[in-house]
Amino acid sequence: LSLTDEQQALDEAVGRLLLKTSSPEQVRAAESSGFDQAVWDGLVEMGLFDAASSGEASTADLAVVARQCGAHLATVPFIETVAPEPDDRQLALRASWFAGLARAVLDLAVDYVKERHQFGVPIGSFQTIQHRLADLHAAVTGSELLAREAAVALDDGDPDGPALASMAEWWAGHVAVEAAEAALHFHGGYGFMLEYDVQLYVRRAKVARTTFGDPRHRLLEVAERLWGTTRRGLDRKLDAGAEAFRREVRAFLDEHLTGEIIARAHETGTMHDAGLHRALCDAGYLAAGWPVEVGGGGRSPVETTTLMQELYGAGAPVDSMGIVSMVAATLVLLGNEQQRTEIVPRMLSGDALACLGYSEPDAGSDVAAVQTRAVLDGDEWLINGQKMFTTMAHEADYVFLLTRTSPDKPKHKGLTMFLVPMDSPGIEITPVHTLGGERTNITFYTDVHVPDSCRVGDVDAGWSVMNAALVFERNSANWGEPDRLVRTVASWAQASGALDDPLVADRIAAHAIAMEVGRLLLYRCSELASTGAVTHVEGSMAKLFVTEAFTRAAGDFRDIVPADAAIFDFVEHAYRHSTVTTIYGGSSEIQRGIIAEHGLGLPRSR
Ligand SMILES: Cc1cc2nc3c(=O)[nH]c(=O)nc-3n(C[C@H](O)[C@H](O)[C@H](O)COP(=O)(O)OP(=O)(O)OC[C@H]3O[C@@H](n4cnc5c(N)ncnc54)[C@H](O)[C@@H]3O)c2cc1C
Repeated sequence: LSLTDEQQALDEAVGRLLLKTSSPEQVRAAESSGFDQAVWDGLVEMGLFDAASSGEASTADLAVVARQCGAHLATVPFIETVAPEPDDRQLALRASWFAGLARAVLDLAVDYVKERHQFGVPIGSFQTIQHRLADLHAAVTGSELLAREAAVALDDGDPDGPALASMAEWWAGHVAVEAAEAALHFHGGYGFMLEYDVQLYVRRAKVARTTFGDPRHRLLEVAERLWGTTRRGLDRKLDAGAEAFRREVRAFLDEHLTGEIIARAHETGTMHDAGLHRALCDAGYLAAGWPVEVGGGGRSPVETTTLMQELYGAGAPVDSMGIVSMVAATLVLLGNEQQRTEIVPRMLSGDALACLGYSEPDAGSDVAAVQTRAVLDGDEWLINGQKMFTTMAHEADYVFLLTRTSPDKPKHKGLTMFLVPMDSPGIEITPVHTLGGERTNITFYTDVHVPDSCRVGDVDAGWSVMNAALVFERNSANWGEPDRLVRTVASWAQASGALDDPLVADRIAAHAIAMEVGRLLLYRCSELASTGAVTHVEGSMAKLFVTEAFTRAAGDFRDIVPADAAIFDFVEHAYRHSTVTTIYGGSSEIQRGIIAEHGLGLPRSR
């Protein structure tokens, strides 16, 4: 979804023009007339109106200009002129305009909170401010992606184009108003002074948002465009290679994933099936994304994301696949000879399973605080301690165990990672059953002796080993499961007639929009990863956005779907389970902290 070279050049040229002609002072000056001649003349000189009327400029080209107009609050009827009918093109351009405004006002807020001090520190170090800005950063990024997707889809004559245009206009408008209002709030009293610019964005965003009346009508239009008559929601295509791979994965699931496997996983709470796991290994899916030279499938990041989303979306119990592939990948990167040549192949073939022993009673989000001790005892290590939430421990052959080896060093520097065989004397497992139905475990380690060959990475280097593994975990946000929830509820509402109720239709539409935003954020990580970029912040944005959207959707659907509906149990399960996705793999608060600090450059929180 990135801009073409020509669009990049256009973007920069329009940006330069508006920087000169549409400064906040010029915006203020044009307020009484509602028209800025200098901006208009500049756009005319660039030939934009001619290019639009001749059809030379695509919707995606014009969207670039619209985005700059939004960002600079340009006081000209650009969109109304290039797309005079209130049609799909106009909606897509409006979406881009809102996305531009939202990004500009978010930048204004971020700059302000870095500069403004209270209590002796920048207000941008307050967590309540950081977290709201982090949420907005994800939402605004989603606006940019969705607006762009809508414009490109319309140009391509994609059947999803009209629905995407409505979705993008609603989402981007919603986020622009939210961002402007939050920015106003974070300016404190000063934001209300007319000398400050932030109020310009607030007023302009709200006026634009209500051009066609109450924006909630747009949600009903989205519902109609997604599920009216014979439609069944969006049908987004991947590029040809990934699309072929998706078909392959779907065929695999048709063959290997049965209703009994899913039902058994739900009954036992163990999200693993030995037969399915082995079939996944035989198909080479466990290491699909690794380079071929180290025994992987050489699949691109987009393809591996597609694989995981198809598995999640089908309801496949694949906890062990996720854990084993992450542990094995870490061993390939940082393990010793024996781990790489003996254990990794057993993991890849499905012979060996692993579980993660990080969390402890007093070390959850602050996982570096773990107290499980590993002490060198002759040429062996002696391990004592307790781990919480060791999911899959009762099935696993190994625990990837984070221990403390040097209590006298700073907490991040005294940790060491081990890969401990689960049949080692001294390990005990106690089951834990959870609200979402998943079984996890408490694991106890009492005088467990392991040879030094069980160590992964250097002594006291456990934090970096752990972080190598976390990168794999965060980049695989589970979007497939919430997407399946939204689609299932939409189909039910379509078939049962519940969709005729606007109170139902507008909420399902809003959740469907959030799912598309989540999908775009997720695939953006994969696309960036394909270029070799480190997607730490983007992974956090996708994980945060998707899991929070899942929780909101499940909560609303639990209200909407009556107890006698056939899908009720499915919805009830989603409701009970969704919240935990905002906790494990790094809670939403932890993700917001990462986005604020590393994505927005805000100071460390206090
Ligand atoms: C079903 C399930 C399966 C799990 N599987 C595993 C597993 O296999 N292996 C494993 O090691 N762990 C596992 N976990 C543990 C999971 O990783 C932890 O629950 C998670 O890290 C949070 O830790 P905690 O539960 O101690 O909560 P806490 O860290 O105590 O958090 C409590 C609340 O405080 C918030 N909070 C914490 N720190 C901050 C902060 N700095 N700023 C703002 N808010 C903050 C959190 O977001 C949360 O809302 C699992 C958990 C569950 C529920």
